[in-house]
Amino acid sequence: METMDGRPVIVGAGLSGMAISDWLSQAHIHHTMLGVPPNDVPRLGESVDPAGTLALLRFYPEFDRFYYHKRWISVFLGDYATSCNFGQNIGRVVGLKMMGFSSPSEFIHLDRIGFDKALYEKVVASPYCHQAEALVEKLDYDGDDDIIKGVYTNNGEVLRPLYVFDCTNHVRLLGKALNIPLRPISEPQRIVFNHYYAPDGPPLCDAPEMAWLHATNILRLYADVDGLDGLAWVIPLGHYLSAGISMPHGSNSCTDEEVLGLLAAAYARRGMPYQKQFPHPKQTVAIPYQQYFFHERAYGKNWLLVGPSFGQVWFPSSSGVGTALVAAYIASHIITRPHEVGQLYQDYVIGLQESHKIFDRMIKKHHSELTPALVKVESNRIVTENVKRVARLATIQSGKVNAAFARLLIKAVSREGVATSGCVVYQAPMAEQTQTIFGNL
Ligand SMILES: Cc1cc2nc3c(=O)[nH]c(=O)nc-3n(C[C@H](O)[C@H](O)[C@H](O)COP(=O)(O)OP(=O)(O)OC[C@H]3O[C@@H](n4cnc5c(N)ncnc54)[C@H](O)[C@@H]3O)c2cc1C
Repeated sequence: METMDGRPVIVGAGLSGMAISDWLSQAHIHHTMLGVPPNDVPRLGESVDPAGTLALLRFYPEFDRFYYHKRWISVFLGDYATSCNFGQNIGRVVGLKMMGFSSPSEFIHLDRIGFDKALYEKVVASPYCHQAEALVEKLDYDGDDDIIKGVYTNNGEVLRPLYVFDCTNHVRLLGKALNIPLRPISEPQRIVFNHYYAPDGPPLCDAPEMAWLHATNILRLYADVDGLDGLAWVIPLGHYLSAGISMPHGSNSCTDEEVLGLLAAAYARRGMPYQKQFPHPKQTVAIPYQQYFFHERAYGKNWLLVGPSFGQVWFPSSSGVGTALVAAYIASHIITRPHEVGQLYQDYVIGLQESHKIFDRMIKKHHSELTPALVKVESNRIVTENVKRVARLATIQSGKVNAAFARLLIKAVSREGVATSGCVVYQAPMAEQTQTIFGNL
């Protein structure tokens, strides 16, 4: 490894680390990225929120072969099935234009296996990126000055960093090593997921009854109906789909394979038997202990906790990819203006907590406690939070006039009851819920 002292160091070569590397290269800043390259193992972060979609389309149009249509979100909650439509409308086109964005025709499901590999190739090809397949084992942190002075790798190297970006996700390398206080915001979870492939052959047809292929499909499983408590997703990505579940830690003693069997049965019970079209599993992945949390602060004098290293919220907020791209956008500025830019970034990520609270309220209720009015109100709130997230993005990425409009919009939609959504709540027998949602689009 050549001498890399006095450079920014990125710890972790996942999507967050790669995106930061890419932006530092664009700013002609020599830096070091430490971590292992992406592989073919199924990973999380495949449904992208509106803010992340705008960033992907703006900054990575060349990777559009990995983008799949996300036209709807469907949510199955006991007797109720909700669909939120992401189609174009004049309000959205004008609103986004005023904030400095073009309005996409739909949002994105992201093939992370393909995208991460392509981004990695782009990133390591840059003469500004010095990549090493090393893991960081130890840090030398001066708590009085709030400065990281040394980064120790398992190759025996000691780097003297100008700045450190922690992109280690739930490993929380800096959060732990610097002893940054952490606040859990929900009960711990256990996560199990897999990818399922369609047989070789022509693409699946675009028949109306298969419209769920263009939706993020969220399902709340209830122990008395499905044999499991948990919150699940089905995200179709062309010739394969991602299916998984987050369960309260210790809430059942099923094996990972039993969990995935009950999950498939639960979707089939709602009229979405995805294993019929996608029968071939790839590799079961389990995260035995996962915590939704926030650290007390995201930045210091020469360090940043990027995205999920700083805080994590309920997955249906689909905010991980977008948050990584915001961090990448500010990466070259935060090195010289750590406090001003750090605070901007911290505020953006903390804003996600509101979405977390909404999901928490919806998820924790038993199906017998839900009413159509309650589901509609919470759906409106989720859409409002997405509008606010895009507006906060505009305050970071767009010009002064656009940012001023975005601030006004945040104020306007923050008043309870002002925002309505394109979400429709249906009450239907479970077996008819998929057909009810997608037959009515
Ligand atoms: C259940 C669930 C579902 C989710 N769904 C979505 C979604 O639909 N949409 C969305 O946008 N987000 C989603 N997220 C969040 C999303 O997964 C993450 O935000 C995103 O993928 C994380 O990317 P990352 O690069 O930060 O982390 P990772 O991809 O985990 O990369 C971290 C990297 O750091 C490396 N590393 C760790 N420790 C060290 C060390 N000591 N030294 C060097 N390297 C190290 C690891 O090897 C790894 O390569 C979800 C999260 C969960 C929990």
